[in-house]
Amino acid sequence: MAQEMSFPSAGHHLSDPGAVANGYTEFDIMNRFRNKLILYLSKKGHKYITDENSETNTQYQSRIKPIKGDVIIDMHLNAGGPTATGCEVFISNTAGMESKTLAKELVDQLSKSMGITNRGVKTESQSARGKIGVLNKAGTAVLIEFCFITNMTDLKAFFSNEDCLVEIVGNLLIKYDKNK
Ligand SMILES: [Zn+2]
Repeated sequence: MAQEMSFPSAGHHLSDPGAVANGYTEFDIMNRFRNKLILYLSKKGHKYITDENSETNTQYQSRIKPIKGDVIIDMHLNAGGPTATGCEVFISNTAGMESKTLAKELVDQLSKSMGITNRGVKTESQSARGKIGVLNKAGTAVLIEFCFITNMTDLKAFFSNEDCLVEIVGNLLIKYDKNK
């Protein structure tokens, strides 16, 4: 039976907590955010599958079987020099129109809500990793870098708007899920 739903994921997990700065790990912040997001989706009656903190990205990505019309949103924080700032959203090099328009709506709304720089939509080849596996599954797929964990001003903007950011991501995830 096909799984027809959405796939929000915290990206990092216990054995790969991601970037560390300002007393936080990416995992700490994105785990909490993902948990708020899935609570929001549950309240809206929206079906989802999410990543377990005990599983690696490879395990998660081979467990999920998205189909066309499903939505994948992988969530991260950026890292850079102390003045690097802003929100950006990545898509596959071969992204379809749905992924492109979802990414644009996300980066516009998230950066505006936090009042930080809109760094725009970027393709995976413009990322540090070059290739991002989760963006190349079937379905609509984006990877959000909400803000820079290395920039305290960005982090404050993220934390003080967190519930609003949950609603933005949750509402767009539901809007773009064509199999709901
Ligand atoms: Zn990350």
